[in-house]
Amino acid sequence: MSETTIALVTGANKGIGYEIAAGLGARGWKVGVGARDYARREAAVEKLRANGADAFGVPLDVTDDASVAAAARLLEMEQGGLDVLVNNAGITGGMPQNPTELSIDTMRTAVETNVFGVVRVINTMLPLLRRSASPRIVNMSSGVGSLTRQTATDDPMTVGPISGAYSPSKTFLNAVTVQYAKELRDTNILINLGCPGFVATDLNGFRGVRTPEEGARIAISLATLPDDGPTGGYFEDAGPIPW
Ligand code: NDP
Repeated sequence: MSETTIALVTGANKGIGYEIAAGLGARGWKVGVGARDYARREAAVEKLRANGADAFGVPLDVTDDASVAAAARLLEMEQGGLDVLVNNAGITGGMPQNPTELSIDTMRTAVETNVFGVVRVINTMLPLLRRSASPRIVNMSSGVGSLTRQTATDDPMTVGPISGAYSPSKTFLNAVTVQYAKELRDTNILINLGCPGFVATDLNGFRGVRTPEEGARIAISLATLPDDGPTGGYFEDAGPIPW
């Protein structure tokens, strides 16, 4: 393992993921831009490099076993390993999201990327992470995955819009992440969930109120936790989120 920290951010070609890559690059880390589209990936790598980051492209579709395995091989052969994995790639699954109207395919699509994609990437990258001195895993969740908030009828801001596929996919991701934390408790791997807030990106038609740079902050702070930092937690900038 080289002395420089090596990070991989999935879905880093745009939105919050791009800004996470920029923030980690600004710390002097080597940062892999995980992205499925060649042109979008190369454009992001070029922009990050122009801003001084030591960025490299990692072809990656989180829904594809072969693609994720190839990404792990690239990290091992070309970078010598992996220290920090940020599972940022995420989708809504499509519209409509009202549970009475949504198609099973919408749910399946959301879960394929937001849950199964994360599990696939973690399990494929774990052999590399286990060799790192300070491995970190950050899973990008959302406050809409919080069952406490979804049922807090007194607070319309945190209840949010009806989202029959996307919100449950993040609740599922939260539940799986807790199980990872339990299993990895006696290792040096810290694994946590972050919520970026409501950020103006393609995901929500740019209706969000925060900038992608602001949205990236929580993932950057969970990616750079000290060795005695928390694991199995669920955080936004203001602190822990109720489950
Ligand atoms: P964007 O739509 O701007 O970016 C999503 C990124 O994920 C893109 O780079 C996209 O790549 C990538 N991606 C999607 N599917 C795959 C796949 N199968 N393999 C690899 N990459 C993929 O969304 P945001 O930046 O807003 O979202 C980032 C994360 O933050 C998501 O997990 C989202 O759920 C979460 N989040 C966002 C909030 C917000 O308000 N924006 C609020 C709470 C959580 P491509 O360009 O190829 O489509």
